[in-house]
Amino acid sequence: AELDTMDLVVLVAILLGTVAYFTKGKLWGVTKDPFASALANTSSIPAGKTRNILHKMEEQGKNCIIFYGSQTGTAEDYASRLAKEGKSRFGLETMVADLEEYDFDNLDTIPNDKVVFFVLATYGEGEPTDNAVDFYGFITNEDVNFTQGNEPPLGNLNYVAFGLGNNTYEHYNSMVRNVDKALQKLGAHRIGDAGEGDDGAGTMEEDFLAWKEPMWTALAEKMGLEEREAVYDPVFSIVEREDLTKESPEVYLGEPNKMHLDGTAKGPFNAHNPYIAPIAQSYELFSAKDRNCIHMDIDISASNLNYQTGDHIAIWPTNPGDEVDRFMNVLGLSDKRHTVVSVKALEATAKVPFPTPTTYDAIVRYHMEICAPVSRQFLAQLAAFAPDAESKAEMTKLGAEKDYFHEKISVNHLNVARVLDIVGKGQKWSNIPFSAFIEGINKLQPRYYSISSSSLEQPKKISITAVVESAQLPGRDDPFRGVATNYLLALKQKQNGDPEPSPFGLTYEITGPRNKYDGIHVPVHVRHSNFKLPSDPTKPIICIGPGTGVAPMRGFIRERLQQAKNGVKVGKTLLFFGCRNSTEDFMYKDEWEEAKQVLGDNFELITAFSREGPKKVYVQHRLKERAVEINQLLEQKAYFYVCGDAAHMAREVNTVLGHIISEQRGIPEAKAEEIVKSMRSTNQYQEDVW
Ligand code: FAD
Repeated sequence: AELDTMDLVVLVAILLGTVAYFTKGKLWGVTKDPFASALANTSSIPAGKTRNILHKMEEQGKNCIIFYGSQTGTAEDYASRLAKEGKSRFGLETMVADLEEYDFDNLDTIPNDKVVFFVLATYGEGEPTDNAVDFYGFITNEDVNFTQGNEPPLGNLNYVAFGLGNNTYEHYNSMVRNVDKALQKLGAHRIGDAGEGDDGAGTMEEDFLAWKEPMWTALAEKMGLEEREAVYDPVFSIVEREDLTKESPEVYLGEPNKMHLDGTAKGPFNAHNPYIAPIAQSYELFSAKDRNCIHMDIDISASNLNYQTGDHIAIWPTNPGDEVDRFMNVLGLSDKRHTVVSVKALEATAKVPFPTPTTYDAIVRYHMEICAPVSRQFLAQLAAFAPDAESKAEMTKLGAEKDYFHEKISVNHLNVARVLDIVGKGQKWSNIPFSAFIEGINKLQPRYYSISSSSLEQPKKISITAVVESAQLPGRDDPFRGVATNYLLALKQKQNGDPEPSPFGLTYEITGPRNKYDGIHVPVHVRHSNFKLPSDPTKPIICIGPGTGVAPMRGFIRERLQQAKNGVKVGKTLLFFGCRNSTEDFMYKDEWEEAKQVLGDNFELITAFSREGPKKVYVQHRLKERAVEINQLLEQKAYFYVCGDAAHMAREVNTVLGHIISEQRGIPEAKAEEIVKSMRSTNQYQEDVW
């Protein structure tokens, strides 16, 4: 049976309410595409990989390109959603493009009947995402050169901009702000506002939804587009393969790429190609009954991976079996979960986000972020495929009413399958084309962890320190459980002798596709960071690392311990650590005692146990108590490190440091803040926060 035949004929009438909003009461028909003439004389460029964006657009008959600068996949996801919406509502011929895959010196040749979108995440301390580094360097270069030499250079370029940022960082949304500024300076015309989504406030999705509506209105006006009845065109065809079974050697059962399928996996290991690493050992760091924190040592000795103290490691998780089952069930796919399917993009610029042929089970288990909270827009889209009128009305309401959605869905962190289950009252949603999920659900993302070992002490073994994510929420019986950390917990249980590891009843395919992860392996890659010890080991350091924020600080301290053991003189090392109490979640206590023995007065641990005294005490309070010493150390050019919670702790530490400097040096607050800022820009103040 071919599921895609049904996919192809399905037409979705968009909800009347939304229609009215956009047309201001007017009825639409499908209008003539105003870009059609521009695309009529498509030149005959040979197919294949080109870095020339104009050629690519012409070759593919596109008039709207949506570039993304993405680190964790969210910006990429928004880019895909915009592409989909531009096509279905306005008949734009859209394509999504990775900034890394194109050159930009001919941006000036893109004619003004086309439009370019930039969806740009800001990473870390105001940096571009890895895939946007070259573009950012190019466009913000004072002496930027374009092919035609027009004046102004980008006078023909129409663009749309949306940024993804986090207001707890100093350089909030600096990517979109700086790119917008640069484009304006070059004479390009922005359509709508430059949108800014704020992950720090937890409003990313709503910021995006609120930004895009007026943007589409402005775009439609500028380009003379008319909104039409939205047509659901699946982006992917899913062909069930009766000639193959899940035992066939060419079928992907969760292997990340061809080399892993063939058993020839080799480096470089990176965000596209993980190393299947043996876990050397794993153990529990908490003695609390209801909370877990895992220490894990990952063996990279048989790979060409390397790391430096302060780097990050990415863990590639798999979804828990019970959520995979729930997903299969509600879609009526349980019986077909191991059916082999070939997934193909129906148009040349779309990419299938996982290798195929594969099975429904492998797609859902290894490649889709099915446990993430569902988006409001996605529910609105799925309404059209509801099993009955009542669920359709409910989905429509959830999609349209922000507050209602928040109260019912967001606060309970419900994923798509849970919502479909609840709304459909147990009915199967078998009308939804599977393509809609491939398009609408984010790719399962690797999770990053601050490496908690020292590369001097153990160059081929990477430690992580991960607290297991779990939250009791008001409107559901079972707690929300984090994907990667519960997977790590299951791995730990298995390694320590539990034959059928299932933390909290969650079961994982621990041995991986075709048992390739058996013997306790986990897929990983390393990401280098700027969070680094001073090159001079005698420099004092002040480390603020409450909770799992202690991870990279442990790496730093183990490094200094090793240096001392090697006869190197090391400087004063202060560690501010905080947790709930000294008996349950005081991690690495023995190790700090060892550090004290080896480093003597050059090491000091300052603890803040928030639940032991009459008043809650946090690391920032302890920092304040040590004002005199902190100031002295800073005057000796001590390095200052903060790791952990970006939203509160890191911000407060920053403020407290300003107060200390102001008070101790008798200078105005504003001046002290300037000093803190300049410490940041010279790397004397470094953050590793999430
Ligand atoms: P997920 O399935 O990803 O779920 C977590 C998400 O659920 C959260 O992002 C939040 O949106 C949501 N959520 C959580 N609680 C609630 C709630 N109560 N209500 C509603 N929504 C909620 N973690 C460590 O433990 N140790 C480290 O050393 C470490 N280092 C990091 C370094 C970097 C550079 C980054 C970016 C992150 C780091 N993290 C670290 C965090 C880590 O990457 C994961 O985000 C974390 O372990 C949770 O992953 P998960 O898959 O278990 O949870």
